[in-house]
Amino acid sequence: MRGAVLYGPRDLRFEERETPTIIKPADAIIRISATCVCGSDLWPYRGISPVARPTPMGHEYCGIVEEIGNAVTSVKPGQFVIGSFFASDNTCPHCQVGYQTSCQQREFVSTAQAPILRVPLADGTLVATPDVADGGSANHRNESSRVEAEGCPRVRRHGHRGRARGRRRGSH
Ligand SMILES: [Zn+2]
Repeated sequence: MRGAVLYGPRDLRFEERETPTIIKPADAIIRISATCVCGSDLWPYRGISPVARPTPMGHEYCGIVEEIGNAVTSVKPGQFVIGSFFASDNTCPHCQVGYQTSCQQREFVSTAQAPILRVPLADGTLVATPDVADGGSANHRNESSRVEAEGCPRVRRHGHRGRARGRRRGSH
């Protein structure tokens, strides 16, 4: 698959990257429906924060679950899900008091500007909507084809913030 990689200030490339797969039992693989450029993406893009090495981009995302690891119970393939930029277990003491961004097991999800994304700690990180949103399901397939054909995910200016369940504090 192809995905966005930042090489340095104003040097953003859409290039071939390894397609993510399930690595840990708590992982989910989702096909991205929409991803965003976050304000914090612009810091390295503008050269305000350094880029030490070619860096895959994207931490605001939603999409359709394609595959889940053996330990995942809260989402299943075919569901439309929204995730957070910090994967969290939603069970540790920090998560229990609403600081999922400080989860003891947190992992930064940072490769979402691509067609396929691996989300660690899927049970604590992904929230499924009751229905598949516009752009999902049948239309989603067309959108996916468009992404591959045009070589660029649909990018929206503002990302989803927060989550549908529980409280989340902190910002990014
Ligand atoms: Zn936690």
